[in-house]
Amino acid sequence: MRNQPSHDNAAHDHESHGHPAHDHRKLGRELDLFDTDPLMGSGLPYWLPDGAAIRHSLEEFIRDRERRAGYRHVYSPVLGKRELYEISGHWAHYREDMFPPMELGSEEMVLRPSLCPHHALIYRSRSHSYRELPLRMAELGGMYRSELSGVLGGLTRVRAIQLNDAHIFCTPEQAADEAVAALELIREAHRALGVVPVRYRLSLPGAGGKYVADPALWERAVALLTEVLERSGVPFEAAEGEAAFYGPKIDVQIADGAGREFTLSTVQIDFHQPERFNLHYIGADGAKHRPVMVHRSVIGSVERVVAHLIELYGGAFPAWLAPVQVVLLPVSEAELPQAERFRQRCLDLGLRAEVADPEHGSLGARIRAARLVPYQAVIGAKEAVDDRVALRLRDGRRLEPLPAEEAWARIGALVAACDAELWPEGASGRPES
Ligand SMILES: [Zn+2]
Repeated sequence: MRNQPSHDNAAHDHESHGHPAHDHRKLGRELDLFDTDPLMGSGLPYWLPDGAAIRHSLEEFIRDRERRAGYRHVYSPVLGKRELYEISGHWAHYREDMFPPMELGSEEMVLRPSLCPHHALIYRSRSHSYRELPLRMAELGGMYRSELSGVLGGLTRVRAIQLNDAHIFCTPEQAADEAVAALELIREAHRALGVVPVRYRLSLPGAGGKYVADPALWERAVALLTEVLERSGVPFEAAEGEAAFYGPKIDVQIADGAGREFTLSTVQIDFHQPERFNLHYIGADGAKHRPVMVHRSVIGSVERVVAHLIELYGGAFPAWLAPVQVVLLPVSEAELPQAERFRQRCLDLGLRAEVADPEHGSLGARIRAARLVPYQAVIGAKEAVDDRVALRLRDGRRLEPLPAEEAWARIGALVAACDAELWPEGASGRPES
């Protein structure tokens, strides 16, 4: 296994395709979520509208959780000059995984292999007082890896990676607390997504010259991460040879349907990059001090987490992630105008809604075609005149008719809360059968 550049995860791990029926590559094509084209290049998937809808909800979810946890978001370019990665150490320790430089006049530009160097420069661009720390800088940003074409496929081995990334710049005394909080954010996000880690790994350096040399800093970082794991109360195993080149990390390991393990989320404490970039803050004593960088990724790369969610749910996503959340099924052409009105109302409330038009087949055939849609509303002659709907849930439950406005508002609230339940027991509109 080659060295990892950062807390992105695992493009070098095993490709995940568990049970054949739940292979994300097969489902991704069947459900029109993503695909590739030889002219765009292998390992460079594009996202179709339904896949993009899932991705959009996921990105909003994580940004919202980060905002609540005190992070502020930035955007930075996906390219940088070669010198930037010479400073960061990527050029010396990670070059074989980087795209070759592009010559532009007298400059050499590189597609970035991680976001850390850009965030270090953004931090360095302004002076910082100890009062501003911890400064939590987050970005869902692109990075690139020169995977060989022979090993590419689906969303798990890609050359372009969208990483849920953040760097916390803090004092040495704050680092452990920040890492504990990051680990808790990871655990909360996993719970909301239904993701269950198989183990926590303390990833240490191994033999060979691929790690930056400074034994004292490594020992300090390992001691802090061990404290973080112990305070978090999670069992963990240490593994040599799995660290980033600049520091140790906590890796949250997930397994696919076939039991193959990969890293989804990471937390790292880094003393190296702040040195390399000569970062500082002004302390209470008026003097310059070196901050620590805590690197962390809560849901890993968008590609890998979506691949896992596709396999985990077999396409029947929780309502908040579902590409189509509400399907309106007019019994006949006569109810089509009411179905269209309901659809527009759902769209206005921020829901993803579609009308399954009678010209697409019998009602039974349309219901079968919409079997993965969490909320299905059949609009008959009665519903067309009294503004009530009788919802069918994807899990087979049928609810008593309720006012349409109430139905949409309730679905909207469940979606906004990222609720895993389609319709909590005891809610109005209780099942009639
Ligand atoms: Zn980083």
